[in-house]
Amino acid sequence: MSDLLKGRLKDQLKDRLKGRREEHLEARARDLDTADGLAGHREKFALDADTVYLDGNSLGALPAHVPARMADVITREWGELRIRSWDESGWWTAPERIGERIAPIVGAGPGQVVVGDSTSVNVFKALVAAARLAGDGRDEILVDASTFPTDGYIAESAARMTGHRIVPLDPAAMAEAAGPRTAAALVNHVDYRSGRLHDLPGITAALRAAGALAVWDLCHSAGALPVGLDAHGVDLAVGCTYKYLNGGPGSPAYLYVAERHQAAFDSPLPGWNSHADPFAMTPGYEAAAGAVRGRVGTPDILSMLALEAALDVWDGVAVEDVRAKSLALTDFFLECVRAYAPEGRVASVTPEAHGERGSQVALRCAEAPAVMAELIRRGVVGDLRRPDVLRFGFTPLYVGFADAERAARVLAEVLADVPAGAPAE
Ligand SMILES: *Cc1c(COP(=O)(O)O)cnc(C)c1O
Repeated sequence: MSDLLKGRLKDQLKDRLKGRREEHLEARARDLDTADGLAGHREKFALDADTVYLDGNSLGALPAHVPARMADVITREWGELRIRSWDESGWWTAPERIGERIAPIVGAGPGQVVVGDSTSVNVFKALVAAARLAGDGRDEILVDASTFPTDGYIAESAARMTGHRIVPLDPAAMAEAAGPRTAAALVNHVDYRSGRLHDLPGITAALRAAGALAVWDLCHSAGALPVGLDAHGVDLAVGCTYKYLNGGPGSPAYLYVAERHQAAFDSPLPGWNSHADPFAMTPGYEAAAGAVRGRVGTPDILSMLALEAALDVWDGVAVEDVRAKSLALTDFFLECVRAYAPEGRVASVTPEAHGERGSQVALRCAEAPAVMAELIRRGVVGDLRRPDVLRFGFTPLYVGFADAERAARVLAEVLADVPAGAPAE
């Protein structure tokens, strides 16, 4: 047999094996989707069949009923009722009311969550309040060294204002490091880049044993996995609502203040909305009781009510089921990537251990910018974290196993078309 013929036979065999592998994984995906108890939730979202949307960890998809609700808010509540809506449409109490809707998703009992402002602003409130709660003689604030940048910037400024020193640390080292000088620690529950899930129960317990406060940022965990704020004794927490909670672009964030801290919670932004009697309009400030003292000024009602409507998709959904599906999805996606992707082109930086994994898969790839641009052109929407991380977020309420298989298959096709060493676009 000539070498040419041998080569051709080998290619044919390879193609046949590849075809079988694809058929096998496609069939597995179909079976997993059929058995998926959450599959029916997808139709609650405005999604097209042509796109695999794996960027819900950056901007959650639109729940399909929200536009009609917003049309009513704008034309009737604002347009017709105008000022009356502050009372009659429940605008004034929206921050606490929506807080109660978010509370069960993050494992908080009633009266501890208030919605409003951005995550950045709430990090500031929580961290300054934590430093004040910790009292004198504690001059250090531990900050997750790989934190989402805004948390780090805000912490730096908060520390300067309160006379504390920032100690950047890997969250895994925080339990050891917490001591008599530690006032508080600010930790991202799930790392936004790698998808690593940090040990909230363990770190919180160690901080509290050291007499310090644990401040958690739940942006990449709330709505994707059980958080258990009350069960684990968390002191303060913040999180955004436009990622896994699908509240819409720039939807307001939330602040959790554990009940035991509320009486002494001293907000650095004591606006009139957090006053005990806001309409008395008195010159002296007196903080309201409860989580309400985390409010500042007039809330962004349109965004807030879009969020409130978006939270309807959680009716009857157990976060534990969402977590089980999330792990199954990321497991399956990783399996498909391993089966399809050309050798050596991508490497997962997301932990394999379920106990250390959030709801995303991050793949390191030298040609990440060109690869992500091409993936998006071919209908697989993830995102890029420069310089070399491809990020794929899995929102269990609307992503299925066939989506995971297709994303991995298209990724392999793109990698075959974008040569190794291709320059960034
Ligand atoms: C998304 C995210 C934020 C965003 O903060 P904004 O004030 O809403 O811009 C903050 N922290 C973390 C950890 C995030 O993932």
